[in-house]
Amino acid sequence: MNRKSEIERNLDEVKEKISAVADHEVVLIAVTKSFPASDVEILSQLGIKDFGENRDAEGVEKSQVVAGTWHFQGQIQSNKLKSITSWASVIHSLDDLRHFQLIEKYAPHSLSIFLQVSLDGAHHRGGAGIKDLYSLATAIENSSKHSLLGIMAVPPLSVPTLSAYEQLQQIHMDFKKEFPGAPALSAGMSGDYEMAISHGATHVRIGSSILGSRSPQR
Ligand SMILES: *Cc1c(COP(=O)(O)O)cnc(C)c1O
Repeated sequence: MNRKSEIERNLDEVKEKISAVADHEVVLIAVTKSFPASDVEILSQLGIKDFGENRDAEGVEKSQVVAGTWHFQGQIQSNKLKSITSWASVIHSLDDLRHFQLIEKYAPHSLSIFLQVSLDGAHHRGGAGIKDLYSLATAIENSSKHSLLGIMAVPPLSVPTLSAYEQLQQIHMDFKKEFPGAPALSAGMSGDYEMAISHGATHVRIGSSILGSRSPQR
C-alpha cells in the first residue's frame, strides 16, 4: 500500500471513532512531529487543516511547506518563543506567566492559547497547578491581542487514565464557569482520544494512529 492510502485508511478510522463518541464538535489536530513534510502534504490533500508540533525547528520547516493552522504543544523554552510565535497560531502548552510576557513581546500576530494544567501536581510533563491556572487565565483574558481558548492536559502515567479524565472533566467544568469565554478542552492522543472526547475534549491531538509509530524521541 502506498503512503497516501495508508494515511487515508488510518485517518478514516480515526474520524469514524471520533464521530461515534462525540456529541459535540471536535477539532482533529494531526500531530506530525518526527514525520516528514511529505506526510504533512498528504494530510493536507486529505483535508486536514490543523497540524501539531512539539519542536520549534520542525514547525519552522513544515509550516513553510504546508499551509494550515499550526499548533505548538511541546514544552516551551523561553529562547524559542520568538520563533515559535512566528509559525504557530495556537499554543497548547502555556503554563508560565513569564512565557506569556514573552509572547506579548514577540508575537507578530495574535495567538490562540490553551493553558496546560497539571493533573498530578508533579509538573513532569508540564502544566500549571489550579491556582496558577486561574491567574494565568486572567492575564490572557486581559490581553487585547491574544485570546484564551481553554485548557489542555496530558494524563499522567502515574494515575489510571479514567480517573485522570474524571479529574480533568471536573477541572474543566469549574474553569468554564469562571472563564465562560474559554470553553475549549485540548486533551486526547492516540491511546485515549475516545475517552477524552467523552469527558469533554473539544480538540484532540493525534499522531501515531494516523501516521504510524514514531522512532523513539522523548
Ligand atoms: C506526541 C504528542 C501527541 C500525539 O501523540 P500520539 O500518541 O502519537 O497520538 C499529542 N500531544 C502531545 C502533547 C504530544 O507530545
